[in-house]
Amino acid sequence: MAGIDYKPYDMDTPYLFPPSLADFLGPEDEVHIFREVTEELDIGYLDGDFTGMGQYPHHPRMLLRLLLWGMANRVVSTRRIEVMARRDVSFIYLAGGQRPSYRTLSRFRRRNAGEIKRLFQQTVLLCARLGMIGLGHIALDGTKLKAHTSKHGAMSYGRMKQEEERLSSEIDAIMEQAERLDREEGCAFGEDCNGYNLPEELKRREGRLERIRSLREDLECEKRKEQHLTAELPPMIDDREQRSFADRDARMMLMKRGEFDYGYNGQVCVDEAQGVILAGDLTNEAFDGGHLPAMVDEVRKVREEVGTADDEVTQVTADRGYFSVANIEQEGEGIELLIASGREGKEEPQREKAYSVERFDYVPEDDVWRCPGGRLLRRDQKRETLGPPLLRRYTCPDCEGCPLRRQCLRPGEQHRTLLVKRQQLIRAQMRARLKLPQKQAVYRKRKWVAEQNIGQIKEGLGFRGVTVRGRVYARAQWLLALAVHNLLKAMRFIAGVRRREALAARA
Ligand code: SF4
Repeated sequence: MAGIDYKPYDMDTPYLFPPSLADFLGPEDEVHIFREVTEELDIGYLDGDFTGMGQYPHHPRMLLRLLLWGMANRVVSTRRIEVMARRDVSFIYLAGGQRPSYRTLSRFRRRNAGEIKRLFQQTVLLCARLGMIGLGHIALDGTKLKAHTSKHGAMSYGRMKQEEERLSSEIDAIMEQAERLDREEGCAFGEDCNGYNLPEELKRREGRLERIRSLREDLECEKRKEQHLTAELPPMIDDREQRSFADRDARMMLMKRGEFDYGYNGQVCVDEAQGVILAGDLTNEAFDGGHLPAMVDEVRKVREEVGTADDEVTQVTADRGYFSVANIEQEGEGIELLIASGREGKEEPQREKAYSVERFDYVPEDDVWRCPGGRLLRRDQKRETLGPPLLRRYTCPDCEGCPLRRQCLRPGEQHRTLLVKRQQLIRAQMRARLKLPQKQAVYRKRKWVAEQNIGQIKEGLGFRGVTVRGRVYARAQWLLALAVHNLLKAMRFIAGVRRREALAARA
């Protein structure tokens, strides 16, 4: 080819092909450790019926390795993995020279979507066996992942109803016209003439009507379940509520960049010691708060599996998106929660008539509240019995001469009284805990522990959104990414240990 200077091989220099693929890769290549760590995973539940029989039997471990290694190298597409299994030495090495097609890989991934959670849990146990898990501090956080659909391929509930009506009337009109034509042709050519077929236009409209109708029925069914209604009752649905045609499970969410798009909410619990992800999930609920109970349960299971003693406390930190009484009550059984309320160090807005409970600091050890003027409000149990049973009453003994009287006291009040509900007390206890310097020190680490590892998944693995449709498959893909994250951590940990051992042996 013009312009390129091709040099022929120098035939005098002996050109030796390495005897095996492993030699091509060299002993230092990460792929060897990857092979070792994936050998440790018990994957008997994946394609459990695999017998090695059939035309081109591919071992589940080999297919799994290709999918995991692909993801570790930012290759998620099964078509791309198929190509890599022919061209890239590390992929050829892991495939053992076999060439599974993208269909085989994709079907394997779909068939085993329900089992990926077990695979992920095995990676957690593998890291635990390696001594990589501390279970001292765990950071919980969520991240929005773009769904494999466009916001332009969606329709609102109001529009669905309008479109259904419009298409139905158009189809009726076309049918009427067709029948009229049929009658005219019957008169012209005789009754047995088959001179007319269903117009293309009609087929198109019917197909579209069917898609809209089924999407609307799905949405109504979902809302009926949410509102606990029977099948006969119409649910309450906002006309602006949207659903995507391509991925019906994806939901409109506020993404990181500040724009709304269809996505899923991926949750992770990251162990501070080595950044191993101990628990994870993916749902279509945009609100983070509802995920905390399940995530805390997962952490408890890991504690059990690892054999953590009951008196060893695991602190789980979460941001204000998780702050609720229901979530705070998940504490116990070895878990201490540190959840920010979002009000730390913030001033109350001026619109309130008198200072609300949020302005006062609870001191749990003495069961007193410290007011903005620095005085202590003590519990008045005698007067509590006169009030509603679920309220606690605290009174300030001395409001005389306080410069904040105007803002703090209600009209006619001489001494400030706080009537505190159980929920307010629980929230105040959490806020008080977050003010302790040793708890603050733990909480401050939350951001980098969680976000650094989420960043590694999004930037390092290039996993910014799911490439499959449907919640089950999207969740499996997210869990697969978390499993890869843990495997990479384990690989680097092993490599570090071996390097240190080699250095020690040399010294
Ligand atoms: S009015 Fe009483 S309760 Fe309110 S800030 Fe002053 S001393 Fe504290």
